[in-house]
Amino acid sequence: MIPMLNIPRLHAPIESELKAAFDAVLSSGRFINGPSVTRFEDELAAHVGVAHAVGVSSGTDALLVTMMALGVKPGDRVITTPYTFFATAGCISRLGATPVFVDIDPESFNIDPAGLEEAITDDTVGIIPVHLFGRCADMTEVNAIAARHDLWVLEDAAQAIGATHAGASAGVMGTVGTFSFFPAKNLGAFGDGGAVVTDDDDLAERIRALRGHGAKVKYYHDLVGGNFRLDALQAALLSVKLPRLAPWEEGRRRVARRYRETLSEFSGITLPSVKKGDDHVFNQHVIRCDARDELKAAFETAGIGCAIYYPVSLHMQPCFADLGYGAGDFPQAERAALETLAIPVDPALEENDQLVIINLIKKALK
Ligand SMILES: *Cc1c(COP(=O)(O)O)cnc(C)c1O
Repeated sequence: MIPMLNIPRLHAPIESELKAAFDAVLSSGRFINGPSVTRFEDELAAHVGVAHAVGVSSGTDALLVTMMALGVKPGDRVITTPYTFFATAGCISRLGATPVFVDIDPESFNIDPAGLEEAITDDTVGIIPVHLFGRCADMTEVNAIAARHDLWVLEDAAQAIGATHAGASAGVMGTVGTFSFFPAKNLGAFGDGGAVVTDDDDLAERIRALRGHGAKVKYYHDLVGGNFRLDALQAALLSVKLPRLAPWEEGRRRVARRYRETLSEFSGITLPSVKKGDDHVFNQHVIRCDARDELKAAFETAGIGCAIYYPVSLHMQPCFADLGYGAGDFPQAERAALETLAIPVDPALEENDQLVIINLIKKALK
């Protein structure tokens, strides 16, 4: 049995620190807001190099509260990728706005800037590029197009904390960025959690208010917000994990490098490409394979973790039927849904285990 990610093994070396953080919150009796949340927000802001980090209840709520703060409303159109986790487009719809999809670049799996401009109309208010699997979208192009049309850019960096594009960090290249601390993300909490990062003072202040029912002063509501807070306990535990993020990223890159060294000559699969100057943080290591379903079956028989991200692209989801899209509208996203397979990229994956995976792939491709 080799899982996609062995979380207990990852935590083993820091178990006593995690327990001490838990004990500190336990004895403080302070579970909502307070110093552990502020401390983690300051550490996170310093880590990514941004003025404001606001802890929130999940990566989904980070997207939702950010778009609430940006004033997204019914009738607005927001451009995003059809090949992402559901939350990206779901939050646009939940605010009554319309998700507008633009196909992906087959090499990066990220939104293809070449299709952006023709998707922009008078009702377009913003763009949400997603840095899928831990590799940045082409933010140079996305930002240039957004600036030309006076649109905001919300980077969905749920999978990409620590990734860079042209030397800049994921989450701080656009107007605002969001992270998820879902346990399987590179910086995982012990439950749900998320954060919003921005250099925009006013936007940060609105997000802070909105996460606590729109009140800057308790019980005085300037805005209609919600309960989008990050738990004090999650914040304290995340503070223990944040300094380990860089070595874990290095571990993920080491695993990816071994796949590249051993499998890149094999026909029948395509490994993630390397983009010079950009740091991929491999939240997922996703390969393309013509015989994807056979390879997946071979993994399952051998008891090795693997997953399809994502089997159905968003424009084909029943809940978005009224958007009027259909099969063939986004051929690259549809092809990716049929060909991709995520294989283990656990930072602590042992070389022997990885060899088992590599040999399985070689055998399956014969
Ligand atoms: C995980 C994820 C989210 C949602 O994060 P949660 O913390 O699970 O709510 C949003 N967008 C992308 C691209 C994600 O991978």
